[in-house]
Formats: sequence, C-alpha cells, structure tokens
Amino acid sequence: ALDAGWARRWVAESAAAIAAARDDLTELDRQIGDGDHGANLDRGFRAVVAKLEATPAPDGEAEQVGAVLKLVATTLMSTVGGASGPLYGTAFLRASKAASREALDVSSVVALLEAALEGIEARGHATPGEKTMVDAWQPAVEAAAATGGDDPVAVLRAAADAADAGSTATIPLVATKGRASYLGERSAGHEDPGARSTALLLRAAVSAAD
Ligand code: ADP
Ligand code: MG
Ligand code: MG
Repeated sequence: ALDAGWARRWVAESAAAIAAARDDLTELDRQIGDGDHGANLDRGFRAVVAKLEATPAPDGEAEQVGAVLKLVATTLMSTVGGASGPLYGTAFLRASKAASREALDVSSVVALLEAALEGIEARGHATPGEKTMVDAWQPAVEAAAATGGDDPVAVLRAAADAADAGSTATIPLVATKGRASYLGERSAGHEDPGARSTALLLRAAVSAAD
C-alpha cells in the first residue's frame, strides 16, 4: 500500500538514487549551469533521511503520507538552496497537502503529482518546453491522469516512465528559465539536470512500492 511506510521508503530510495547519481547530476549542471545540482540534492536528501530517522511515526495512530512529505518539504527548503531547493520544497509541500491520508489510491496519487507540478509552476513560473524540471513533471502528471485502472503503483510507474522520457526530451531544447537560460542557444544539446533528478525521484517512488 502507498502508506506512510512507503513514503519513508521513498525518501530512503530517493536519497540512495541521488547519492549514486550525484556526479552525473553535477556533470549535467556543469554543462549548462554552475555544477552544483548533484551536491545540492545529495546534501538535502541526506538531511531528510536524518530528520526522518529522528522523527518516528506517532504512537497509537497511523502516520499520514502527508506528514512524511511535509518533513521532506521543510528539510529540502532549509538545506538544498539554489533554484531547486525552493522548487522541490514547494513541490513536496503542496504534495503533502494532497496526501493527508493514511494510504493513497489512484486519484490521490494523481492529485499528489498535480499538486507538486502546480507548486513548481507557482514558484518558478516555467511552462513546458523551457528546459526545466517542469519538462519531467508535466508529462508525468499527464501520464498519471491518463492511466486509469485501480492500481496506484501502475499510476506511479507511468509517471516515472513519462518523467524519464520528458527529461531526455529536454536535450535539444533551448533554456529560457533558470541559470541555463544565460547560455541561450548554447544550452541546446544538454539534458536539464533538474528534469533528470525529477525522473530519479519518481523512479524511487516506484521502487519503494515494489
Ligand atoms: P541553481 O541553478 O541555483 O544552481 P540547481 O543546480 O540545484 O540550482 O538546480 C537547477 C535546476 O533547477 C535546473 O536544472 C532546472 O531543472 C531547475 N530550475 C531552475 N529554474 C527553474 C524554474 N524557474 N522553474 C522550474 N525549474 C527550474
Ligand atoms: Mg546549479
Ligand atoms: Mg547553484
């Protein structure tokens, strides 16, 4: 079930995936940014893991998925910095509000992803095609909403697959938001680091459910 235990495993799997990809993310950010995206997220997710370990589930009542995601949000906001800290922080904060329940069904997984995307758009004002993490989140939300059925894990898997493809599809794009936009046309030919990290986080959500 996609319950608080899953959300805690999602955090652990995310931290492991980000740590493993730290150098690759940094290299992507070196190509079109300032080369700190891997380090920023690695620092943030290590802090989230520590914070969660120090925050056990409440005694005698079921922990809500949203409570875990809220802790992720506040910790990322205070530790990641840069552009991606507030963006991911807002995404997880909005997601936490959409997930104030003990377990997620299909419609609440879709709502969680939609809320995350809305938070990123509200915070960063990027639209699809500007070579940002929105180019991974937006197709993920679309694929999730189109999945149907009654298996919330299948919805997550569709979202992760679409985020992966969306991230790869940023390669030819010219950046018009964020640091990469300073490069203008020279930003084309490189994958956006934030789109790639988004794909990693959504993949971790799937493996946490398996
Ligand atoms: P910084 O650019 O401050 O060094 P990071 O390297 O951690 O921060 O994050 C860069 C990523 O943030 C980019 O690859 C992009 O995906 C994302 N990003 C930057 N600006 C925006 C924005 N306005 N909207 C959405 N995503 C953005
Ligand atoms: Mg950077
Ligand atoms: Mg930076």
